Amino acid sequence: MSLRFRVLGSGSTGNATLVEAGGTRVLVDAGLGPRSLAERLQDAGVDPASLAAIFVSHEHGDHARGAAAFSAKWGVRLCGSRGTYAAAAFGAVEISGYDVAQAGVPRRVGALTVTAVAVPHDAAEPFAFVIAGDGACLGHATDFGHVSRGLVEAFRSCDALLMESNYDPAMLRDGPYPWSLKERILGPLGHVSNDDVGRFLGRGLGEACRLLVLAHLSQQNNHPEVALMTAETALRRRGRTEVRVELTSAEGTGWITVGPPANGHGGGGSRQLRLF
Ligand SMILES: [Zn+2]
Ligand SMILES: [Zn+2]
Repeated sequence: MSLRFRVLGSGSTGNATLVEAGGTRVLVDAGLGPRSLAERLQDAGVDPASLAAIFVSHEHGDHARGAAAFSAKWGVRLCGSRGTYAAAAFGAVEISGYDVAQAGVPRRVGALTVTAVAVPHDAAEPFAFVIAGDGACLGHATDFGHVSRGLVEAFRSCDALLMESNYDPAMLRDGPYPWSLKERILGPLGHVSNDDVGRFLGRGLGEACRLLVLAHLSQQNNHPEVALMTAETALRRRGRTEVRVELTSAEGTGWITVGPPANGHGGGGSRQLRLF
């Protein structure tokens, strides 16, 4: 028994992460079309109708594009903020149902407990999520302009983190985007850079964390090797070489298992991580 997750898509082409523990499965985001979401779930050996809920982080298309149609087709309820409900116009289309999540209030979904965390991003009411089950805990945050104190606190006890590492600042500045878009991405409500992630790893990473998955990498303004090297350098400087760093491409990852504490009692230094 353990918590495991699998990224089904990541980045501007569409985000979705499947999380499972104790026989309960949820999606974080549904930014792929309903057909390709169903295909990627089936590739993972998961019946789309078996999902307990889809947690929608915010209304931007790369996170919410397929949510309504998938919900209606497979009878899966959506869950997210009031602001996301309004901004995504979920009230105007057919969906299986919508549960309003509030930041900081844990929500029990079968064997999983999901807690929303408010994040700074230029959307109506965007959330990150902390998902716990089977004695392990995953922090999941894409699309946020800076690492807020609230996010650091919420992630402090997580065994694994999936975080965006969106851009390399020099590549973004010198790249082809119009200046207005560059300003938006660079701003406090835009996206976080490799360097922002590095600073967080140096100062805010919790002791329990053993795995970091870097996600939502820009194809225009980042190189996977640069994102990886920046994170690994920050961890090495901090003496945190036990933290494994993984990258996800647009196509996602295989299953990643976050084991419960090896001695069954918690304790930062004794957590076990298995990857396969
Ligand atoms: Zn996004
Ligand atoms: Zn966004």
